[in-house]
Amino acid sequence: MNIQSYIRDIPDFPKKGILFKDITPLLGDKKALVYTVDALFELIDGQHIDKVVGTEARGFFFGMLLAQKLDAGFVPVRKPGKLPYHTFGASYELEYGTDRLEMHQDAVHKGERVLIHDDVLATGGTAKAVCELVEQAGGVVVQCNFLIELSFLNGREKLTGYEAKSLLKY
Ligand code: AMP
Repeated sequence: MNIQSYIRDIPDFPKKGILFKDITPLLGDKKALVYTVDALFELIDGQHIDKVVGTEARGFFFGMLLAQKLDAGFVPVRKPGKLPYHTFGASYELEYGTDRLEMHQDAVHKGERVLIHDDVLATGGTAKAVCELVEQAGGVVVQCNFLIELSFLNGREKLTGYEAKSLLKY
């Protein structure tokens, strides 16, 4: 199945110069959805996973479905101030300035094996920050798993030392 045809390019969104990869057509097609979850699951190659950590907001969609398929729990990583309990935080660089992500302190336990999932790997700052959050909690990052990799942004370099896998490369 050609799932690339279910991903819509939106030029200059959310700001000028960004070619946004819109995955909503893929989410809306039941066959493409099942195919994609299965293909993302294959990337994990049978490794044992205790928790899937998904990044707000588009990392939640396939992150949850993968957790169910892996018989694992799901952990949301969110923007600052959204999670109600005690959190760990990690900051990362943006093109202009910095941003921050948070995860509940009790969401991942020491030694748990974690799959990190997000829809897009771009510059890699987000995924690196999520790796830091998991490690603050004492978790082990087994794989960083993406639907789409924007290879020309070299995000993979920021994830040196981690296994990074993606389904579609641009
Ligand atoms: P980065 O930290 O640069 O790797 O950016 C990854 C995060 O930003 C992911 O959570 C993506 O959802 C989002 N993102 C970055 N670039 C794009 C893009 N071209 N289309 C859709 N989402 C993007």
